Amino acid sequence: MSYNYLIVGAGFFGATIAERLANAGKSVLIIDRRPHLAGNAYSYTDQSTGIEIHQYGSHIFHTEDDGVWYYITKFTDFNNYVHTVLTRHHGKLYPMPINLDTINLFYGKHFTPKAAEGFIAQIAKQDVLKYQIKNPKNLEEKGISLIGEKLYHAFIKNYTEKQWGTSAKNLSPELLKRIPVRFSHDHRYFASAKYQGIPKNGYTQIVEKMLDSPLIEVRLNTDFKDLALSSPQLQPHNPQPHNSSRSQLSALSSSQPCPIFSADFKIIYTGPVDELLKYELGVLPYRSLRFETRWSKTEDTGCAVINEADARIPYTRTHNYKYYQIHQQTVMNSQKTYLCQEYPAPYTPGEEPYYPVNNKASASLYQKYLKLLHDRYPNLTPGGRLGAYQYWDMDVAIKNALALAKTL
Ligand code: FAD
Repeated sequence: MSYNYLIVGAGFFGATIAERLANAGKSVLIIDRRPHLAGNAYSYTDQSTGIEIHQYGSHIFHTEDDGVWYYITKFTDFNNYVHTVLTRHHGKLYPMPINLDTINLFYGKHFTPKAAEGFIAQIAKQDVLKYQIKNPKNLEEKGISLIGEKLYHAFIKNYTEKQWGTSAKNLSPELLKRIPVRFSHDHRYFASAKYQGIPKNGYTQIVEKMLDSPLIEVRLNTDFKDLALSSPQLQPHNPQPHNSSRSQLSALSSSQPCPIFSADFKIIYTGPVDELLKYELGVLPYRSLRFETRWSKTEDTGCAVINEADARIPYTRTHNYKYYQIHQQTVMNSQKTYLCQEYPAPYTPGEEPYYPVNNKASASLYQKYLKLLHDRYPNLTPGGRLGAYQYWDMDVAIKNALALAKTL
């Protein structure tokens, strides 16, 4: 078969493009260097308990977009799970994002919604005056100006500093938009999501179904740079002399046949763009994560996610995946549970890039990479969260992939 498209990365972005292209009669080769489909959303079922384990941390599907919901529900049913999060501060658990109950528990009050709103506005105003904050210049000032110093220090500061590995004074105030304060008893984490849930048979099965077409070939454990070594059609144009990989073309011994692409084939690349161009212009900054997991018969958190708000606890979240299957009695009754602690970690090339560090300098570096990419690979379109150098939820990855697929 000669392929019309090469898609690098079998996460939700790549899989959606592949599915749409095959649906339109195009032949597709989709590769992923990991040994599994579904990218960071990958999940698998533990046979002894029935617990669906999310390998790269909790993934809750949520969207406000009718089109995305219509599309994804062609491949799966969802359970009725509604996501809530608790956060631990000085040993006590509070609802997160901050809501009326968080405020009342923290201050030992019985405020009504209106009274709480007035109280928070008053303490925030006092602290704005105390610290002479005019236009918040950083996340710390923004936090204090929104909810006052005490709440900010208890729930936002340390968690955020652990997550980003830097002082909140070095972070953009924009980041705090993602932590709203609610003056109600609404405990839902994704309060604006029109649809949310966990796929009944896990995430990987969705992607398997998406790619189930005679026009799609999947190759796992296959890195683009290795495939490129075996295929003259995948060589960059105008490479830097010292970076040329043409001389290594015959070096690859692969058990898989060298793919043949049509003359006008295109590449959709959902990996990191700086890595593709061998970090020629420098490294795009990211934060990484480390997951520590264990089975336990004695410990149980009682919910799917607990955040750790204090600085002395080095991890940010504990995941207890069985609580995503709260509607399945056999899973809930299992003798043991699977716990996963999420530790923020620094990123250097070679680690997993999880969260892009978006600021002016990294945006400018990314734009330079896009120009270079166009020069080296005119038939390549970067996409997905890594190719776009953006944090995207799954629904955003799918929405953007559907939009790109329409233009192809
Ligand atoms: P990815 O899923 O990262 O897929 C990209 C794939 O490309 C990877 O499999 C990678 O191996 C492959 N690849 C890269 N380079 C190469 C190469 N050179 N050769 C071959 N293959 C390559 N979203 C939600 O909606 N809800 C959540 O609750 C949620 N929780 C999250 C929790 C964490 C800890 C993280 C990190 C993300 C979370 N997300 C969540 C976001 C979600 O994971 C992403 O939106 C989604 O994975 C994006 O899909 P993608 O295809 O763009 O990227």
